[in-house]
Amino acid sequence: MELIRKYNVPGPRYTSYPTAPQFAADVDRAALLAEIAADNRDAATPLSLYVHLPFCETLCWYCGCNTVITQRRESAAEYVDLLVSELAITAPLLHPQRQVTQLHFGGGTPTFLPPAEIARLGRALRSRFTFAPDAEISVEIDPRRLTLEHVQAYRELGCNRASLGVQDTNPEVQLAIHRWQPLPQTAQAIAWLRATGYQSVSLDLIYGLPVQTEESFARTVEEAIGFQPDRLAIFSYAHVPWIKPAQKIFEQREQLPSTEAKLGMLTTAARLLTAAGYVHIGMDHFARPGDELAVAHDQGTLHRNFQGYTTRAGASLYGFGMTSISQTDGSFRQNEKELEHYAAAIRAGRLPVERGFLLSVEDQRRRSLVMDVMCRRRIDYAQLGARLGLDVAATYATELATLGDLEADGLLVRDAGGFTITPRGELFRRIIAMRFDAYLDRGPRQFSRTV
Ligand code: SF4
Repeated sequence: MELIRKYNVPGPRYTSYPTAPQFAADVDRAALLAEIAADNRDAATPLSLYVHLPFCETLCWYCGCNTVITQRRESAAEYVDLLVSELAITAPLLHPQRQVTQLHFGGGTPTFLPPAEIARLGRALRSRFTFAPDAEISVEIDPRRLTLEHVQAYRELGCNRASLGVQDTNPEVQLAIHRWQPLPQTAQAIAWLRATGYQSVSLDLIYGLPVQTEESFARTVEEAIGFQPDRLAIFSYAHVPWIKPAQKIFEQREQLPSTEAKLGMLTTAARLLTAAGYVHIGMDHFARPGDELAVAHDQGTLHRNFQGYTTRAGASLYGFGMTSISQTDGSFRQNEKELEHYAAAIRAGRLPVERGFLLSVEDQRRRSLVMDVMCRRRIDYAQLGARLGLDVAATYATELATLGDLEADGLLVRDAGGFTITPRGELFRRIIAMRFDAYLDRGPRQFSRTV
């Protein structure tokens, strides 16, 4: 508990390095296009696609996502039109023989789209891309307002994985966060997903929400375990009212749990999940022992991208839809964050880039280092050095020398050949990664707390 208190500081989640706050609007657009061209010289590198579907009917007051709140159903068809056009603008820039190994539908609420629009989007994607036979195709599901037809439509499109927003099963918490989701609704969604052949079902919970107590959250975790999900993510509620003003209501009503209570929720959740046989993959992710994430964690082949942990390595990411992020070896691009700006760019026939970042060679090296810290049990200097073509211990001697306090606190163990992250260190991976982040002192610092 003392440790969690000590290391509960604002920090990035390192779904990328450098992190998104470093992306800039004045990035060299011609250089970004050159990066796309370089990324598509041959067909060898697989593709990972992300499609952002921003609509939600009502706002959950804790929400930190990029959403468009609307009950106007025509928005779905209009938006799919824009996505189809964006695919048409982007596809000619890509090598036609590249294979898609990963596709993720995120939001917002992907199931805001009526089944017919889901099918139309699927046809557009299939007509533009070749999918690997074992492609991992996942969708974020909101059990509220879900129908069997939605589940079937995403399954027919090829989805084999789903993650469900549960957050908290306690009715009092659900009222306080403006997200009413009775347990039978979640049970029904899971039953539909299993019956229609989704291979993996993951549940998302959030701790630190208003009205939650250590005991109430323990019940939520137990009820979630009762659904026997393949994976669970236990996210920390990110209180950032300066970015998400709707969150101010929790302060006005004085409903947020104390730091003490929040720490208790986290440790209790980790204990309950471990006792139920789940493997702690890293940070906030847990998986069944046979799950491919757990196996990759064991074998040191885990990776991390904007969707979190994954087993699919080395793919370039192409994002579609407002606010989505794309990534090649040497660049990041983020689409326009406002729907009207995104639509205007698409209608003008251009890539809807709002900001971006070009990585230097040093950025790329540090990215490897940071991602290894986020994904692997052991950072092996020789192995990493062979990949990067440098002497890791000598090049990053200053940063490595700062690990002493983390070692003293039992988060890692250093030796001459590298360092190993301990089970205790799993919760603190981003604290360790921060020691190698060259940008922490530069630019805006609007990160949520690590716990
Ligand atoms: S459903 Fe998800 S994306 Fe939509 S408002 Fe709620 S938390 Fe945000």
